[in-house]
Amino acid sequence: MADAVRPTRWLLPTVLPIIRIMLTTFLREDQPTEEFNSPKYLYDRYDFIIVGGGTAGCVLASRLSEVAHWKILVLEAGGPPPPESRVPGLSRLFYFPSATTWHYNLAPQRHGLRAYNNRSSPVPHGRVIGGSSTVNGMVYARGSPRDFDHWASLGNPGWDYLSVLPYFKKSERYRGPKRPHTERFHGRRGPIPVTPESPGFFTRVFLQAGRYLGFKLIDPNGPDLMGFAGPDYTIYRGERWGPVRAYLEPAAKRPNLHILHSAHVLRIIFNKDKVAVGVIFMHHDKVKAVKANLEVILSAGAIASPKVLMLSGVGPQKHLHHHGIKVVHDLPGVGKNLQEHMCLYGLTWTVKPGVPNDVLNAANPASVTQYVHQKSGM
Ligand SMILES: Cc1cc2nc3c(=O)[nH]c(=O)nc-3n(C[C@H](O)[C@H](O)[C@H](O)COP(=O)(O)OP(=O)(O)OC[C@H]3O[C@@H](n4cnc5c(N)ncnc54)[C@H](O)[C@@H]3O)c2cc1C
Repeated sequence: MADAVRPTRWLLPTVLPIIRIMLTTFLREDQPTEEFNSPKYLYDRYDFIIVGGGTAGCVLASRLSEVAHWKILVLEAGGPPPPESRVPGLSRLFYFPSATTWHYNLAPQRHGLRAYNNRSSPVPHGRVIGGSSTVNGMVYARGSPRDFDHWASLGNPGWDYLSVLPYFKKSERYRGPKRPHTERFHGRRGPIPVTPESPGFFTRVFLQAGRYLGFKLIDPNGPDLMGFAGPDYTIYRGERWGPVRAYLEPAAKRPNLHILHSAHVLRIIFNKDKVAVGVIFMHHDKVKAVKANLEVILSAGAIASPKVLMLSGVGPQKHLHHHGIKVVHDLPGVGKNLQEHMCLYGLTWTVKPGVPNDVLNAANPASVTQYVHQKSGM
């Protein structure tokens, strides 16, 4: 891993500004930055306050603001999506520390991560409008139907696969071929375009290997996940097309929706009945408060949501006392049992100059021109 990280010390600061200038110049007409200008004023009260304008936050903001008489406020700690987030081939840039990510690290592991420095792995999360969906690998994988059924069996009615499937279908605009056995698992009219990869050399070899081993070639979002498949991506016409473009941008001009970026929520305000009634946040070095008539929705991601809860006094009492936080509600599970894969940089190869996947080619004007005009290339 050390070798994978080392070049970025000079690579990112030098290559990224060049890529940004070229992309902003060429993609200027389609830049959606207007939509994310901060509102000119804030109300004292909103019906819903959404903490975190990430993947879930974008969808919630869009769906809730369909009700014209509700006022919605989204508070997002990060800024608007940078131009490079639109280019699928540049998504790996976000694995490295930058202003667009929260750069969390795992605590040193006792047994695992032996090949990693300090036995710790970075855990990047998006710190930007769209959250991790603005920086992620765009693979559209719903997960195993059996996992959903298991969660339902643990006492979560409505989370079995058959119950969640209509929502997956409603949000999906599947652009792959119609397959008789799996078509009923796809939606074709939703806002999120899902495009199967057109297999390149490596995918073809990988699928061939699967077949050779006796596995079926499957639809990665069908009912049967035992087999080999090329990935489906949330990419449309060569661009990242996650919840920002599918949900938030179309809703952003609604007068009842305020989206405030660079606004870091410090804590939730609870009343004496332990009902969340507002939030305290920091914006441009000023601490402000805003109240909620109906709900405060915490969608700050798997790490920051429990963190904000604990900073607000909801969590394991002993732990909160240790940090001098006044306990609103002793809830031992908050902040526990996070399961996450480590950040795997993959194998690192030395390549000959001119190999198309060489990251330096991304800053080559010919690559950028090809991308801008044809939305193709690396
Ligand atoms: C590098 C990377 C690659 C990935 N690749 C894939 C993939 O290919 N396919 C896939 O399905 N999944 C992938 N994932 C996972 C997926 O993106 C996440 O599971 C998903 O986006 C999480 O959504 P969320 O709404 O829970 O959180 P997020 O989308 O992370 O949103 C949380 C938002 O809350 C904001 N926030 C946090 N704290 C505060 C605060 N105090 N105040 C205000 N705002 C705050 C954050 O800035 C962020 O914008 C990847 C994730 C990463 C990081």
